Amino acid sequence: MRPDPDMSDTTDTLEWKACPDCYAEGRVPYILRVADHFYMKKAPRYKGGYRVSAYCKEHEKQRAAAQRAKQKAERAELKAEEEATGITPPALATLRAKWRAEWNGRSREQRRMAHRNTIQANPETHRANVRRYIAAHRDSERARKAAWYAANREAVLERMRHRRSRLRLTSKPS
Ligand SMILES: [Zn+2]
Repeated sequence: MRPDPDMSDTTDTLEWKACPDCYAEGRVPYILRVADHFYMKKAPRYKGGYRVSAYCKEHEKQRAAAQRAKQKAERAELKAEEEATGITPPALATLRAKWRAEWNGRSREQRRMAHRNTIQANPETHRANVRRYIAAHRDSERARKAAWYAANREAVLERMRHRRSRLRLTSKPS
């Protein structure tokens, strides 16, 4: 009979650890060298500030991917519900508040990087979003600009005059 991988006192040492998923799949070996096959995860409450991942690297990645796919499906479902009913489900509102808080907590540079990564990961979606945004805002954007120019007419003209006179000054040969 195989040893129970959850009995950490018999199978887990500082150097060797059993991966429960490897064990469940019947892989041999399922007791792996910690330094090669497990992640060191930041864990402030653990001794030294780190802990060994619960699963081997391969299974940690698989579980993370499965978790992301599950969350993505849940989000899609909530958005579909919102679109169909015109009412934002409370769970989606909570998620959006969380995303907004995370976004607001980021630095300017982190935001720029996150935005760029999103675009690079989904160039087609990005182009479609831009087209949709332009189509939806073309008229209102033009009206907004026109209103701004009308309200700031004197300041705009003054700036234009200023720029022209500077151009004259720099382009005139002395
Ligand atoms: Zn494993």
